[in-house]
Amino acid sequence: MTDWVSQLADDVIAEAERRAPGKTIVCASGLSPSGPIHLGNLREVMTPHLVADEIRRRGLDCVHLLSWDDYDRFRKVPVGIPEEWAEHIGKPLTSVPAPPGSAYPNWAEHFKTPMISALARLGVTYRGISQTKQYTSGVYREQILHAMRERDRIDEVLSRFRTKAKPKAKDADEAAALEGSGAAEEEAGYYPYKPYCALCGRDLTTVTGYDDETTELAYTCACGYGETVRLATHDRGKLVWKVDWPMRWAYEGVVFEPSGVDHTSPGSSFEVGGHLVGEVFGGQQPIGPRYAFVGISGMAKMSSSKGGVPTAADALEIMEAPLLRWMYARRKPAQSFKVAFDQEIQRLYDEWDALERKVADGTALPADLTVHARSVRTAEGPLESTRRRVPYRMLASIADVTTGDEEQTLRILRELDPADPVTDLESVRPRLDRAQRWVSTQVPAEQRTSVLAEPDADLLAGLGDEQRESLRLLLEGLDEHWSLEGLTALVYGVPKLQAGLPAEAKATPELKAAQREFFVLLYTLLVGRDTGPRLPTLLLAVGADRVRKLLGA
Ligand SMILES: [Zn+2]
Repeated sequence: MTDWVSQLADDVIAEAERRAPGKTIVCASGLSPSGPIHLGNLREVMTPHLVADEIRRRGLDCVHLLSWDDYDRFRKVPVGIPEEWAEHIGKPLTSVPAPPGSAYPNWAEHFKTPMISALARLGVTYRGISQTKQYTSGVYREQILHAMRERDRIDEVLSRFRTKAKPKAKDADEAAALEGSGAAEEEAGYYPYKPYCALCGRDLTTVTGYDDETTELAYTCACGYGETVRLATHDRGKLVWKVDWPMRWAYEGVVFEPSGVDHTSPGSSFEVGGHLVGEVFGGQQPIGPRYAFVGISGMAKMSSSKGGVPTAADALEIMEAPLLRWMYARRKPAQSFKVAFDQEIQRLYDEWDALERKVADGTALPADLTVHARSVRTAEGPLESTRRRVPYRMLASIADVTTGDEEQTLRILRELDPADPVTDLESVRPRLDRAQRWVSTQVPAEQRTSVLAEPDADLLAGLGDEQRESLRLLLEGLDEHWSLEGLTALVYGVPKLQAGLPAEAKATPELKAAQREFFVLLYTLLVGRDTGPRLPTLLLAVGADRVRKLLGA
């Protein structure tokens, strides 16, 4: 069965065989730890991960390189960070102090670390490469000297894509980091290497001269400092981005690397890199799809205040890893989708559970089976999963009513299905923890349920005969029907009984209206509102004794 992952794996294997027969196949991703690494960036990693994993499942040697672009410049001070961080603009991300209160040694580590732990939980195996480490240890020495020798050729390639408009002054530093100092300026020489200033640490530098023979490079900085260094021994600087990327394609022999839709524009780093990698570095551009945007539905303000963009770690707090993998595996890279933080997550989980049932009983379609297999395990083994799959919406309702009380939670879970009771909370974890976390962080206060402490005496006193009778019938059947299935039959059955209908009667508009009215009465007496979690769940959660008390027994 072929899905998009298998098809890409076929392409990558064929291409690798053509380029470097018998060698380890190289897939790559790049992440910039310049801020929270959100769920859209996760696609940058998941796409090659799934392809590399498929290649490994076929028994071939394949590595997934994850390049941390932590030697890139700090571009701007994000909202919520003290203004004094502005003095660090232009420094490598690993030289900028972490946000206030962080336990990490620098800005890059602060944003990298949660992503590393999220990737581990997602079963993503990769070889991480810190570009700070690479550049500062001289790994790219030959490539840098080569690029400097070839600077005119690089300038010529870049000039084919340059627009006439000069960058605005405030973007000039950005533009220089992208293309190089002297780019698009007739009078100055072009250099694809940008030193970080030895005095202030920033990249507000301009290369003023370079000697290919001695590798002596002179630069000045906006801070007033200037010096001449020998590039053959200098390790405080980097190739500008548009040259850096294709250099690494060639250096690492990358066969597959996807890129975001923003790379489709003419003159994008990916397009320009495609020319530079061959014309300058003697390598080839990787094959790789453009991946579309990943959106979010309903992120609560509480969490989004951390920067407005949920990360993989945020998503893993409210959903299990296989579910998150499934979302990325089932859509082709070109399709955009949303990760649900709102009520939609319950529907998503229902869909996932339905798929798992089909997989278990052998009725899943081949395509669904393939995507399911990619979600629950990797070539290295199975991911953590919940043994006993109580529906997420049920666990959320229980978490809502019990506010996480363990004893109460276990009692309710035990009573759900007396024929096959849940006997310990471990069997419903980690799904239970995710549902509890979702309720406590994502469900707005006005949608939370709080069971009344005392019966609503006024309401009870004012009930009509028919309403009293409905409550009597419910209370009478309570013990006998005390299970999820039993209570479902009971709450729908009481209005049927009152209408003189048999239990198996089909719903008519009149019956539906009577049931709705009955449910509103129950909700009002139990939680003081006219809606709430599904009634059978709510009744189980409240407990028989308290139900009797609140319904005036
Ligand atoms: Zn300086």
